[in-house]
Order: sequence, then C-alpha cells, then structure tokens
Amino acid sequence: MNSLYLGDWIEKTDLEGPGLRAALFLSGCSLRCPGCCNPHLFHRKKEQLLPVSEVLKLVTSVLGIEGISVLGGEPLEQSLALCNFLSLLRRDTDLSVMLYTGYTMEEIAKDKTKASVLPFVDVLVDGRYQKENRSSEQKFIGSTNQKLHLLTDRYQASDFCGPNFTEFRLNKQELRILGYPVS
Ligand code: SF4
Repeated sequence: MNSLYLGDWIEKTDLEGPGLRAALFLSGCSLRCPGCCNPHLFHRKKEQLLPVSEVLKLVTSVLGIEGISVLGGEPLEQSLALCNFLSLLRRDTDLSVMLYTGYTMEEIAKDKTKASVLPFVDVLVDGRYQKENRSSEQKFIGSTNQKLHLLTDRYQASDFCGPNFTEFRLNKQELRILGYPVS
C-alpha cells in the first residue's frame, strides 16, 4: 500500500501536539465513537487517495514546523501505507511524529500490522473518545480514558501540561475547527 486516504490537512497548528505542527487527517474510521468531532472523516472517498510520496511533498513543503500529527478518522486502519509514509518521513526529515488513535495500546499490541507503525512514532494518544468522560484539562486528550504514551525521548511529560483549546479558522467560505470542541 503506497497511498493514503488523506481527508484533510492543516499546514500549521499548535493545537494538535507540541510546538507548531502539520496535521494530517486520514479518512476512514470503523470505531464510530459517539460524540466524535470528526464524523465527516468516517468514510473514505476515492478522490482522497494520495501516493505517500505526494503526502511527503506536502509536509516537507511547510517551513517552520517541528513535527507532524496524524489524526483521523482512524490512522491505524491504514497502517501499511502509514508505515511507508512515516519511514520516508524519518529518512528525509527530522520532524517528530504524534499519532492519535482510537485503538488502545493493548489492542495495538495484539495486531502486528497496527503495531508496525509504533517504531515511527514519538508520541501516541490512544483510546476511543468517550463523550461521557470528556475532559479539557490535559492538552491533546479528549476524554479521561485516553492516555498519552511517550515512545521516544523526543518529548517529556511537561510538554503536555495544561488545558486544551479550540480554534475556529475561517478560510474563504470554509470553517475549520481545530483542537477540542464540545461535542
Ligand atoms: S476513533 Fe477517533 S475518528 Fe474514530 S470515531 Fe472515535 S474519535 Fe472519531
């Protein structure tokens, strides 16, 4: 698999991980958490399919970022292509990688394909979004069941202290909501 379903992407944001980052929103998610803030990304569209080399070009064209965040949709439902993309990113750049997944670490550990992404990830947030446990108290965490995993020494726990924020961007006629809206 050498293509990713890329539903949307943002060149620069500081709401989806530490520092300024490009945010890649992969489309397709079978988990369907009630209250998900990205239901428009549940389904893949064939026009969203992009070769990993093209996704790499998008990201490397952005100046002044320290990393990328991969969100969804559910990124680990495209694990093989995501591995290919992240291995190229590691080869060609020193950008850090943060991954948000609805799967828990326990579920990932039991699935070799999903687990194959982990060596390319610096920080991972795991677990379904639980509307009833929504929290805005810890940066980059949507509900209290979700956990932050530092998989490399690139970041420290102190990089993730503080509350969440929501940002509304109006670009021409299009409203984009980033961060952690109430849902
Ligand atoms: S895993 Fe993420 S994208 Fe999928 S339904 Fe849950 S919150 Fe939404």
